[in-house]
This record gives sequence, C-alpha cells and structure tokens, in this order.
Amino acid sequence: MYEALYRKYRPQTFDDVVGQEHITETLKQQIITGRLSHAYLFVGTRGTGKTTCARILAKAVNCEHPVNGNPCLRCDTCRAMEAGELMDVTELDAASNNGVDDVRMLRDEAVFSPTRAKKRVYIIDEVHMLSKPAFNALLKILEEPPEHLMFILATTELNKVLPTILSRCQRHSFRRLDADTVAQHLLKVAQKEELTLTEDAAQLLGRLADGGMRDGMSLLDQCASKKLVDRDTVLSAMGLMGATFTAELAERLAQRDTEGALLFFREMWQEGKDPATLLGELASFYRDALMLRLAPKGGGELLSGLYDTGTLRAVTGSEGELLNSLNVIEKYLSGMRDAANPRLQVELCLIELCGLEAAKVVYVPAAQEPKSAPAPVKRSENTKKPVPEKKAEPVPAPEPPAEEAPPWEEPPYIPPAEDFEEEPYIYPDEPPAEDYPPFEETPSYEEPPVCEPELPYEESTPASPAAPEGHPDWRSIVDALKDKLDVGTHMLFTDDFAVSGSWENGELIIEVMPGFYMNMLNKSDVIEAVQAVCGAAVHFRELRSPAEIREDKLNALSRFDNVIFQ
Ligand SMILES: [Zn+2]
Repeated sequence: MYEALYRKYRPQTFDDVVGQEHITETLKQQIITGRLSHAYLFVGTRGTGKTTCARILAKAVNCEHPVNGNPCLRCDTCRAMEAGELMDVTELDAASNNGVDDVRMLRDEAVFSPTRAKKRVYIIDEVHMLSKPAFNALLKILEEPPEHLMFILATTELNKVLPTILSRCQRHSFRRLDADTVAQHLLKVAQKEELTLTEDAAQLLGRLADGGMRDGMSLLDQCASKKLVDRDTVLSAMGLMGATFTAELAERLAQRDTEGALLFFREMWQEGKDPATLLGELASFYRDALMLRLAPKGGGELLSGLYDTGTLRAVTGSEGELLNSLNVIEKYLSGMRDAANPRLQVELCLIELCGLEAAKVVYVPAAQEPKSAPAPVKRSENTKKPVPEKKAEPVPAPEPPAEEAPPWEEPPYIPPAEDFEEEPYIYPDEPPAEDYPPFEETPSYEEPPVCEPELPYEESTPASPAAPEGHPDWRSIVDALKDKLDVGTHMLFTDDFAVSGSWENGELIIEVMPGFYMNMLNKSDVIEAVQAVCGAAVHFRELRSPAEIREDKLNALSRFDNVIFQ
C-alpha cells in the first residue's frame, strides 16, 4: 500500500523537525535536564509540526535511553509507542471528542500510574474545540496534576483557549515555514524517493505550501506520479495552468480592451472555468504585480510563484491602479457566493476593470407613462419654474399612511435640498408661489421616501413600473424574451443596473448602459425579438446620466406618479 510522503517522512526525533528549532532545542534541553512541565500548549497554523512534536516529546520523556534530548527509537518503550501499543500515551482529537464525558473519563483514568512508561501522556489536538464543561473538567486536572501525568495540548486558535488553561501551560508557538525551507526539505525528500524535482518546481511548491511542511509534502505527493517534477508538472497537477491565461486576460484589461476581455472570459467559461476561481487568480496576479513593485528586491518571498517575474514586471499601471483593480476584484469576489449569476459578476467585474465605473451609474425607473394623459410640463422662460399648463387630476396617495397622520392638506413635497433651492416645486392646485407657506411651517413631514436615487429601486416602488394599458410591463417582456434569445443575450436583459425598459407614447424605450451592453443588444435580430414580444416599436437609448435622471425625476414628480406618502 502506498504511504503518503508526509507520513513516511514524518520526523521521528527533534533533530528531524524542520524550521522549528526555537522549540525543539528548548524541549531537548528540558529532556536532558529533566526539568519538564506537566502541561504544554503548542500553538500554530496547521501542518507546522505541532502533533509531530507532541509525539516526539511523549516518546522522549518515556524513552529509556534518550540521546541528547531525542528519543532513542530503539528501546522497548520507543518501539511500543511507534507501534501504537503503548497504552500510557493517549491521543485525543478534541474536534471529534469535544464532549465533557471524554474529559471526565480521561480525568478518572489519569489518577492511575502508568503501566509501562514513566509518564502517562495525553495529547489533545485542537484543544480549542473542547466544550466549556470539558474545558472546566480539564482545568480541574491541570490544577493539581499527579506527578506521573503530562498534558500536551495543541491548537490552531489560541484566542479560543480559556485563559485559565493558558496560565497553567508552558506555551510554544510554531511558526510558518518560509518557502525556501519547505523547498529545500522537499528536494531532500525527492532525492530519497528517486524523484527528479527541479529547483524552480521545489520553490513553487514551497510557496504553495503556505508555511506548512505537511501541505508541502502533500503537494509533492500529488505531483509525484511522474519521475520528473518540473514547474509545468506542478502547475498542471495543481490545476494552475490557468496562470498563463490569467496573465493574458490581465494584458487585455491593461489595454482597456473590454470586448477582448469579455470574449476571452467567454472562451474560458465555455471550457468550464469556474468564475470565482478565475477572479481569485486574477486577484493573485495583481497582488503579485503590486508586491513586486513595492518590494522589488526582497519581494520574492511575497510572491505566489505562479507567475514569472518578467510577466509581472510587464504589467502597466501605477501602484494605485493595481490597488484599485484588487479592490474591484475583491468586491465582486465577496458578492460571488450569493450571486444568482456568477458569470455576470465576472463580466461586470471585467467591465469595471476596463475603466467603466459602474458604481457611478445610478439607476432609477424611467418616468412612467401615466394612465390618463399627463399634463405636459413646461418651464416658463423667466422664472425657470415648472408650471403645469392645466390642472392635473389630484392623485390619491398610493399607500395608506402607516400611522395616524394629519389630515391630508396637500403638504408640499420637499425635493432634495439642492434641487429645491433652485427650483421650488409648485403643485398644480396651489396658489401662486408668493402665497405659498414657507417650508419651516409645513406639517411634520418625513424625509421623502421615494425618488431618491440612493434608495434601492425595489424598496420604494413596485418591482416593475406599471405599463400603460394594453402593453406588457418590462418584467414580463424580459421573461418572454427568454424563449426568443440565446441565453447570453437574455442574461444581459436581466441586469437591472444596465438595462431598463419603459413605455413612451406607445413605443418601448430600452435604456442601455453604453459600451458593451449597447453593442450586444442594439442589433436588428434582438430588436426584432423584442418587437415580436411587446408588439410595438422598440427604440434603444443610452442609460441616462445622473443629471438627466434628476431632471426626469422632477418631471415625474409633477405627475405624482412616483410619490408615496407615509
Ligand atoms: Zn527510547
């Protein structure tokens, strides 16, 4: 049976342990002098050698003839322990035995002297996983430990260990190994295994191991199906051949080639590339490029090693731009988990990386087509105030007031301050402006809840603007388009932030974010499909700028269509 490399080459003595000399030398001295603690706490990230050192320590304290602080590996006790036959050494994994019963049982058992060895040793892995009652039971033993007892606790999360436990243990912190230490060790192991491991492949594995020797060994295992392990072997075994593609994608982004980047992504998507993985790799690429800029000399240790430095140096753009790109990717990555459409997330991310600042495009519903003919709004030249030509019918509040509200006295709608100062709005039925009560005296009136572009659309108004009679609303048009268009094109229609439709004078106006979306949608076959669904003329228009939207908002207000009083 094949034995995993990390098991096969698991250190047997303190001297075999790589990269934790600050701990192993101390422990060896304690064995030599006999000044042992009754409780140790080993802290460190996974795969750094905590359990291995715990076993070596348990062996060393019980060894009949320790050699310079190391277990001899030859005496009966050493061999019994190696064979797993020494009942006096018990390993517990708190992750699976976190019950208080286990610790109580341990406590009852612990009072008995060891059967064969000098000390009864309990190794409790992932001790932070113990339940609180179990912790307390453990504390009882640690308070007054019998002479023959030794505890070796290990944890990856120091902050979850009770302070009362910490204060009773001698603490040792295992550090992450640097990439070169892992690489050098892997080269030695490869030699023993008669594998040809190239230096750059070893360095890459060392970086991928992320500080843990066990991970480094497992990674080597995965690559070891061939006798020659070089850089390409590692990349392909780790599924990282995408690294070259990532660099290529980044190049298109650097050229602001939105179309090229999107097409490139589409290709990778069709080959089965996971969207989140792709963004993750792109982030690591930009990160490496940034690290190389910030630490050009000593930065090798900071790099992931997936990209050669020549490629990274070729990345254009300032440090600030790289940082910005990273922030953009992180934003989309963090939203990816809950996204209904991960592919769209990547597309939006790429578009934003190409310089289009989607965050600045504010979406508000297009002005609605009123059910009755609207009073067209004109602006008189001298006052610059919108004055309706004729009386509009008063429109009742669409929703009843939430609480007992003062009687309806046509309170003035207060538009956002900057709009108001310049263009005070006059209601159709109100007396002329000069008789209008000042705003300070208006009845208590809450912050206008609608028509604020900052508010998410759904919170203030129905999900889809009501369509004029005889016309389907936008949502149902989009739904019906599903059968008429290919999936990719239809998906663009579902993006509320980039595409919206509304009725104007019997025509369907589709407002679309300029650039990619417009290029993809404003095509004759798409227009035909939409016309077939909505049964009317269809026009495309660029999604309006915030200034235009503000103006529209004022016009919409004059029709009371959008206002909800609460
Ligand atoms: Zn021994």
